[in-house]
Amino acid sequence: MSGLFIDGDWQDAAAGEIREIRCPSDGSLVATVPEAGPEDAERAVAAARRAFDSGPWRTTSSLERGALLHRVADLLERDKNEVARLESLDTGKRLVESLYDVDDIVGVFRYFAGLAGAESGRVVDTGRPNVVSRVVHEPVGVCSLITPWNYPLLQTSWKVAPALAAGNTFILKPSELTPSTAIWLMRALAEAGLPAGVANLILGAGAKVGPPLTAHPFVDLVSFTGGLITGRSIMASAAPTVKKIALELGGKNPNIVFADADRETALDFALTAVFLHSGQVCSAGARLLVEESIHDEFVDELVRRAELIRIGGPFDDLAETGPLISAAHREKVEAYVAAGLAEGAQLRTGGARPDDPALAGGYYYLPTILTGCTSAMNVVQDESFGPVLTVESFVDEEAAIAIANDSIYGLAGAVWTSQAGRAERVAGRLRMGTVWINDYHPYVPQAEWGGYKQSGFGRELGLAGLEEYRETKHIWHNIDPAPQRWFDGAEGS
Ligand code: NDP
Repeated sequence: MSGLFIDGDWQDAAAGEIREIRCPSDGSLVATVPEAGPEDAERAVAAARRAFDSGPWRTTSSLERGALLHRVADLLERDKNEVARLESLDTGKRLVESLYDVDDIVGVFRYFAGLAGAESGRVVDTGRPNVVSRVVHEPVGVCSLITPWNYPLLQTSWKVAPALAAGNTFILKPSELTPSTAIWLMRALAEAGLPAGVANLILGAGAKVGPPLTAHPFVDLVSFTGGLITGRSIMASAAPTVKKIALELGGKNPNIVFADADRETALDFALTAVFLHSGQVCSAGARLLVEESIHDEFVDELVRRAELIRIGGPFDDLAETGPLISAAHREKVEAYVAAGLAEGAQLRTGGARPDDPALAGGYYYLPTILTGCTSAMNVVQDESFGPVLTVESFVDEEAAIAIANDSIYGLAGAVWTSQAGRAERVAGRLRMGTVWINDYHPYVPQAEWGGYKQSGFGRELGLAGLEEYRETKHIWHNIDPAPQRWFDGAEGS
């Protein structure tokens, strides 16, 4: 057993601590991994620093870096079933979703491989014959990459692939609950030929290993995906050394349905928007806004369909959604629903654990719909990160936009209407990083992903994804230096 990867070596934690990883669907033991402490994190930071300052990686050609990322994508395709199985065991996610995630991850590595290979600076015309002026891109340096448990390897790929494409070294810290595919990735990077020290893996509790990773002066950049409260503390931790930061935080994403929408499709996607992966999706459409004239019949049908959703473990072919990640997280969701009911929301379905004895060993929670909500309620403003939908109604387009934008978050949202003009007007005025029109959830690596407002800053994916991981330098080269004689005194008369 060894799961810390530091300077090209598999290591145990210095303090000898270990952690058991258990599948959220039934509590079965999945793996036993080392539990790092601050001293392990500091060793990993030092290794990444050495590898950046004196190692070969940052001076490899962009084509070589791109080729390495393609090799990682090849290894993902080779090990697809194994990677998906590991992801499902750690997260409890349905195997079919994990397999889909692996396809996505392959696409992310290939996308950044292409960007790395297309690396170029530019020459600036200064109008002076004695000056060569150019803008070049350089890696930022040592990056701390901190990821959550809901899409462990996908979130990791969004950080690792651009960080490597740009020539950085890094320390990866996955969620303490989901380390298995991060371990697989370190093996794959080594097999693909990445030099020792470029990729380092620290497993352990964020509260313990977070500070060295986010405050250490050797670290140049912190890229974090996770909750808002953790994001704020990471900003504070990185502030004294003015690190580059990218934050991908939560969302409470409005899904707006107008009366003229294609009803059948809007209903179908309203379910997927919130109940996919039991709502443990940062862009989940957990806040449904329905035009008043269709509110009652739309919600009745939504409730009917939500009650038909089949719940089960990752390898149950009939399951349509799975468990929550942990007992603690389920308790958090339960407390959120109880607080919503206390402030006046009405429970239309769910609000409990399933009574099927076959599911008793897992952290399951029924798809839940709360109606009679308004944006003045905490249950609407707060993210549950579980299978809980709050429903509000609106009277017209202006009201829909105002209600949807009434949030501290701004990650994603959707609008459903058959009027193209209205769709574009609403999309243009929603203060969110991603807006879907008559759709929900799809993304492509070529398009930027990130949040407005307190959903974070910095963009992952798209061209901006690579920009986050590089510095841009202007080099002004005077090729014919000579005194300028601006000051008479300099002539020493
Ligand atoms: P957390 O913020 O609790 O944790 C995210 C990561 O940060 C984990 O690896 C965690 O480690 C680590 N961490 C915790 N405390 C610290 C610290 N003080 N310093 C450094 N790292 C720390 O989020 P969750 O794992 O609970 O993930 C769910 C949240 O992530 C939701 O709010 C969701 O909206 C958001 N999210 C956002 C996405 C986006 O693209 N905007 C995508 C996916 C999720 P450990 O697990 O050991 O605590």
